[in-house]
Amino acid sequence: MSATKVTKICCIGAGYVGGPTCAVIALKCPHIKVTIVDLNQARIDAWNSPDFKLPIYEPGLEDVVRQARGRNLFFTTEVDKGIQEADLIFVSVNTPTKKSGVGAGFAADLNYVELATRRIAAVANSSKIVVEKSTVPCRTAESMRTILEANSKPNCRFDILSNPEFLAEGTAISDLFKPDRVLIGSLQTAEGKAACEALASVYANWVPTDRILTVGLWSSELSKLAANAMLAQRISSINALSAICEATGANIDEVAHAVGYDSRVGPKFLRASVGFGGSCFQKDILNLVYLSESLHLPEVAEYWKQVVTMNEYQKRRFSKTVVDTLFNTITGKRIAVLGFAFKADTGDTRESPAITLIRDFQSENARVNIYDPQVEHEQIWADLAEASPATPLANIQKQVSICKSALEACKDAEAVVVATEWKEFRDIDWEAVYKGMNKPAFVFDGRLIVDAERLRKIGFKVTTIGRGERV
Ligand code: NAD
Repeated sequence: MSATKVTKICCIGAGYVGGPTCAVIALKCPHIKVTIVDLNQARIDAWNSPDFKLPIYEPGLEDVVRQARGRNLFFTTEVDKGIQEADLIFVSVNTPTKKSGVGAGFAADLNYVELATRRIAAVANSSKIVVEKSTVPCRTAESMRTILEANSKPNCRFDILSNPEFLAEGTAISDLFKPDRVLIGSLQTAEGKAACEALASVYANWVPTDRILTVGLWSSELSKLAANAMLAQRISSINALSAICEATGANIDEVAHAVGYDSRVGPKFLRASVGFGGSCFQKDILNLVYLSESLHLPEVAEYWKQVVTMNEYQKRRFSKTVVDTLFNTITGKRIAVLGFAFKADTGDTRESPAITLIRDFQSENARVNIYDPQVEHEQIWADLAEASPATPLANIQKQVSICKSALEACKDAEAVVVATEWKEFRDIDWEAVYKGMNKPAFVFDGRLIVDAERLRKIGFKVTTIGRGERV
């Protein structure tokens, strides 16, 4: 079978992955019509907003959408039409962790993948290449194929590929412009290889061919889980070492630098912090844990589970340090939390460590001021309400305020907690912050971004993760 020439792409799911990924494909491939569909009308309206108030914040994204939207890039809720028109369909829907039911807390919730697949099967009236873009457990493509084949019409054949996305939020556009690699998994049949070639030829419009890796379907699915699990494992490893540093007087920056100098280890992703967040790391490790358990590999499951356990421990340890340092009580004290997004340069708050910290401070009856340069206020309230389901939002709002600037958040506070590594927190007017705070004024740096020495000279008592010396 010769490779299909891709001329029309549909992406199901206009989220953090589908939106930027397919916007970049449209930009780089002006000869391909790219239609991104979603059931969420508000999200589609935001993608189409005349003043480019897009539903997600990513540096460089607006520029990409400005160039391609209306030319060969379209956003719509007309899912069926998008499917019917396309010769290649990305499935880029959410795959959260199940919150209840059998295997609760571990299994991936594949409901959205299944519904999207059923929709393709129901409305497709010509052959399609269906591409898993969502992160899914190993062998999900098999379930998708069963659904598609059971419902296909005559003359409709479906080839399934896995093409997991490795972009990181905050650097999505530069990651998509210059990916470390594009991974495409296919069945090793003539048809599978032809479909793989068709998708590879789309990426080849801007990605060097030696960076386009083609592998078997199951290897591709597993590689995505493995990549995220190993990145998260590095964070948990350095965070575990940060606890030893604090207890011994060693300095985690120096340890990370020394360890990272080994070319086998490398320097990246060795920054100690209050813990990892985001929608992917924890979910994908739990996915791997569930997969290992269902394959009767309990020791393997236990091994990966520890990465999540260490992350939870790190967040709790940090909250406890704040309480301990503030003379063992924060009742009635005002704490300024700088940053609410799970990392800098994104407005995404999913699994953000800030949420856990604030819930801990609330439970100790502190008053909390929050400032984040990107996150919408409604999102903050929604996250805090979800984190404390037993507390009415009105009660949360008596304890917590959302501020318009870092300076405002820190006014009359006893302590400042840096929860997200926004660059502006490094450069705020710390003298002015100090003047406005109650004394003694404490800073807890959960991201290792402030200049602790300079802050101490101003008068702050500074605690940073992984450094033996305190205040
Ligand atoms: P998201 O929640 O931002 O977006 C998913 C979108 O799919 C939502 O807008 C939802 O309305 C839509 N959707 C769900 N079912 C649909 C259906 N049947 N028809 C039409 N639209 C539908 O999720 P995301 O962050 O973009 O993640 C998508 C996938 O990519 C997940 O599997 C995730 O694990 C993976 N991933 C995410 C990242 C990341 O950094 N966010 C990175 C790599 C991979």
